[in-house]
Amino acid sequence: MTDAAERPTPPEGLPPKLVAELRECTPGELRKAIVHAQELLHFHGEAELPIDPEDNDDILRVTEHDGYTEVVKQFRCADGCDDCPHGPYLYHVTEEPHPDGTSKVHWSFMGTVHEREV
Ligand SMILES: [Zn+2]
Repeated sequence: MTDAAERPTPPEGLPPKLVAELRECTPGELRKAIVHAQELLHFHGEAELPIDPEDNDDILRVTEHDGYTEVVKQFRCADGCDDCPHGPYLYHVTEEPHPDGTSKVHWSFMGTVHEREV
């Protein structure tokens, strides 16, 4: 039996019924739940954002377009320099689905964004 204190806190807004169900799932079932949730997101036309920001990245703006996601982000050096934060930079992010259910994410650097456009 797992101590309740060790359980991660579910995200706000997740229905308690669903939280209870997920807690009962085995790791294998959870993986299937993720896959199915992604399928449902695609069904709703809201594919999971293919963005996994680094700790030192600030995502400023995300805009969904047909076929790609426009992302404006800035980032900081690990130690920080006089020019930090760097950017903001504009990227076009595309997702290329593979038959095995995974997908490859491409970040295309489009250039620097001027503050007033953000
Ligand atoms: Zn810097």
